Amino acid sequence: MSKPAAGQPAPAPAPLEPPHLRVDGQVLARMRTLSAHAPQSLVIEGGATADREAAALAWASLLNCEGVGERPCGACESCRQITQGVFLDLKCFGREDKVLVEDVRASLPEWGQPPRGKGRRVSIFFSAHEFHPAVANLLLKTLEEPRPGNVFVLLAPQRERLLQTLVSRSFTLTLPWPEGKAAESDAAEWITALLNFWDSGQGWFERTGTKGAADRALALRILSGLQHELIQALACGGGPAGGSVAQRLARLGRPGLRRLDLVLAQAQEALTQPTAPVALVLDWLATAVIAKGPKAAPAPRHYAS
Ligand SMILES: [Zn+2]
Repeated sequence: MSKPAAGQPAPAPAPLEPPHLRVDGQVLARMRTLSAHAPQSLVIEGGATADREAAALAWASLLNCEGVGERPCGACESCRQITQGVFLDLKCFGREDKVLVEDVRASLPEWGQPPRGKGRRVSIFFSAHEFHPAVANLLLKTLEEPRPGNVFVLLAPQRERLLQTLVSRSFTLTLPWPEGKAAESDAAEWITALLNFWDSGQGWFERTGTKGAADRALALRILSGLQHELIQALACGGGPAGGSVAQRLARLGRPGLRRLDLVLAQAQEALTQPTAPVALVLDWLATAVIAKGPKAAPAPRHYAS
């Protein structure tokens, strides 16, 4: 072990910020009310990834804080251990890697036991929208049995990305949707063309077929602009506050928006592959959203291989 050089003391670790300090006040108040009869499973959607994580940890603090205030105190043993990630009644899944079905199975005996402390054992699934179906099904079975003292938290950008049966067994808490960034003018023009294509079936392939029409960077801006409008459409249901693109998107209805969400995720993934032809990915995006029924177009990575 090498000592720090004289005159250079090792820097003290930065104090961790208690998670509840990063959570919207209204959301915290809502969780406070919920905590009186904590649902066995809580879905947290909306917000950015960091917002959902902070809310989940704040939920764990609320259910385990030894203080008596309206908010987690941030100072008791439970609060401090949760902040430091060493609390024995807090289990985290999928924070860095995908959740493995073996990990969930290995936790079944523990979930059959009451928590070690006086509060609740909180099991957080950080990217529940990326669950392998086997994980989702095992978790579903787990939720079907009473698990005294145990609560589960599923984090996802939108509840539509989760297995419907998981959502129906859970209470859903929606965080304020992130403002995001509206599309810049070049991407916005493409998005309008895409909406027109969905209305009329015309004018899209002429665009993508032009040599050098859209490069990867522009395609990614189109996708992120669409994502922004999708969130507006989901948040306001296409009401007057939704802006014209969001209002037009809202006409796809909830199932259509859900499909768009999945298609955007797949298109984004496809564009990370250097071999994916940008025009083909954009064409797939345009057609996959309006494809109906089980014969929806295959994901664009099939084109790329
Ligand atoms: Zn506390």
